[in-house]
Amino acid sequence: MWTWIIVGVVVGLGILLCLALAVASFSFENYNEKLKKIDQIPNSYGARTLDYVNAVNKTYFSGRLQVARCQEYDDHYGGGIVALSDKTMNSNSLASLAIVSHELGHARQDTTDILRKFWRLRKTGRICGLFFMPLFIVGAVLLALWAFQVLSQIYFLVAGAVGLVASFVIFLFAIFLKWKEIKIERQASDFALEFLGQILSEDELKLCQDLLNSARLTYWATLIRTMLSWTMLTRKEHLFH
Ligand SMILES: [Zn+2]
Repeated sequence: MWTWIIVGVVVGLGILLCLALAVASFSFENYNEKLKKIDQIPNSYGARTLDYVNAVNKTYFSGRLQVARCQEYDDHYGGGIVALSDKTMNSNSLASLAIVSHELGHARQDTTDILRKFWRLRKTGRICGLFFMPLFIVGAVLLALWAFQVLSQIYFLVAGAVGLVASFVIFLFAIFLKWKEIKIERQASDFALEFLGQILSEDELKLCQDLLNSARLTYWATLIRTMLSWTMLTRKEHLFH
C-alpha cells in the first residue's frame, strides 16, 4: 500500500516537473512569436512612439518625464527617464506602443514608493544571495560529518542544521522576490493598458494585452526555473538578478 502511494507521489511530481519545464520553455518562444507578429501592425493613432510618449507624459505626468536615447532592444524606464532606441522612437507599430506603455507604467509606479521598496528588497536579496551556496555547503558538510561520527559533538549537528535552514530561507526569499516582481510587472501592464485605451481601438488593445500577458508569462517561467534550480534540470537561473 505505502509503496504505491510513494510511487504515485513520485510520478505526480515528475509530471508536474515536466509541465513546469514545458511552460518555461514555451513562454519565451511564445513571446518572441507574438512580438514579431504585432511588430508588423501599425497603430491607428497614426503617430510615432515618441509622439505617443510625449502625449502620455503631458497628460499623466505633467511633462515631468525625460526622454533619452538608448541601444536597440534596451528600452527601459529608470529614475524619471524613459530611455528609447531610435528604432522604437520612430516606430509606429502596436508592439512598440505596448512595450513603451509598460515602461510608462513603471514610471507611474515610481510616483509611489512601490518600485523603490522593491529595489531595496532586491539589493538585500543580492547580498543574501552571496551567502546561499557557502551556507548550504558548510551546513551539508557539517551534517554529513556529524552523521558519520567524524565530528560527534552535538553543536556540529546544530551548526549544520542552522546552515541548511539559513540557505533554505534565502532560497524562499529569492522566490518571494520573483513573485513580488511579477505583481509589479502586472500592475505596470495594467497601467499600460489604461494609457493605450485612450487612443487604440478595442481590437488593437486586445493585441497589446495579449503581448503584455505573454511577456508576463516569461516572468512566471523565471520563477519556475528558480524554484526548480536545485533539480539541475532547468537552465541556470541566478537566485537574485
Ligand atoms: Zn516591466
